[in-house]
Amino acid sequence: MDNVILIRIGELWLKGKNRVFFENLLVKNIKEKLADVECKLYFGRNRYVVSDYAAADENIIVKKLQTVFGVTSLSAGRKTRADFESIRTLAEQCAKTEGSFRVNVNRADKTFPLSSPELAGGLGAALLQRHKNLRVDLHNPDFVINVDIREDGGAYIFSDRYPGAGGMPVGSAGRGLLLLSGGIDSPVAGYMTAKRGMAIDALHFHSYPYTSADAKEKVRKLAAVLQNYCGRIRLYNAAFTKIQEAINGFCDGAYTVTVMRRLMLRAAKGLAEKNGYSCLINGESLGQVASQTIQSITVTNAVAGVLPVLRPLIGMDKSEITDAARKIGTYGLSVLPFEDCCTVFLPKNPVTKPTLARCEAEERKIPGLDGLIGDVLNNLEVVKVDSV
Ligand code: ATP
Ligand code: MG
Repeated sequence: MDNVILIRIGELWLKGKNRVFFENLLVKNIKEKLADVECKLYFGRNRYVVSDYAAADENIIVKKLQTVFGVTSLSAGRKTRADFESIRTLAEQCAKTEGSFRVNVNRADKTFPLSSPELAGGLGAALLQRHKNLRVDLHNPDFVINVDIREDGGAYIFSDRYPGAGGMPVGSAGRGLLLLSGGIDSPVAGYMTAKRGMAIDALHFHSYPYTSADAKEKVRKLAAVLQNYCGRIRLYNAAFTKIQEAINGFCDGAYTVTVMRRLMLRAAKGLAEKNGYSCLINGESLGQVASQTIQSITVTNAVAGVLPVLRPLIGMDKSEITDAARKIGTYGLSVLPFEDCCTVFLPKNPVTKPTLARCEAEERKIPGLDGLIGDVLNNLEVVKVDSV
């Protein structure tokens, strides 16, 4: 009898005609995730199985698989031969000795001689006979014995179910460019987009030496945490100092934040066009700050033209975003107190209802702006992001 981990996958998207495409990606992502763990993988219809691993690695494998988008849930269990006696023996070992229980049977192997109700009934009766302090409760049992008869000639028995990350396999929805600050929101935005299958790379604007090397390092670490879920992330660091200085030197204080947002987006769009990203992604949430009113979003968005700017957090409260950041594991890093380039140059009274005409007029005040944007793009630093 072997220890096994069952992986359940998103059956809804498996119904379509792109099934093979999605499954191949998920299989590849699972193999990559478990590349450094000794184990065997079996990929069957709608259900995958990990076996032949060291017992001490069980938790590690479950934790790793919980970060793979496309996995809906997981169970650690035991495998035996698919005949009644073997299943009964294993069920007796797996069951508790007191309390209420139910038996669930899932019979993918239709050649198994007993029907699901017959097998469930037979196992239930055997357990009741074995342990006098057990009773059956179909509706609210203390524990469940799940029996899975698979096409591979094995029977699996498991009790607990761990949630998976859900979503779609990363790589199934193209590749986007995440605007990654050191804050709480943008890492969550990246996570949510990757959850729907989009591979991401990240672009960070820094204002060194106004912002410190620690601030850059923090962003690299954030990207590393995201990488647990999103697959390989290429992180671009962009030097925004000259543009920040120009904005502060030439533009009206009320418009500096709005103009800065527009110029960040302009540079991001340039990179997306050059390297073929299908969209930009940011962490804006409607009304959160002055630069995230609908008027601010409108004038910023105008820069992107037909390139979509995804804002997965648009309808979330800060507390919801914070909860998500905690769950993902980015929160602790995000709240480290390093200045980012927005906070360094923050004006006292940013405009909340900017107009496009005024933004354009403010930007015309900056001499050689196109050249400055070009410099940002020509001097991008590509940072190696190690996994954590
Ligand atoms: P975050 O917590 O993600 O920093 P925020 O609430 O601080 O968000 P803003 O500072 O207004 O909001 O930024 C809005 C979005 O613009 C961010 O979520 C991010 O996508 C992008 N952004 C802001 N600053 C930077 C930066 N320095 N580099 C890259 N993108 C940035
Ligand atoms: Mg920020």
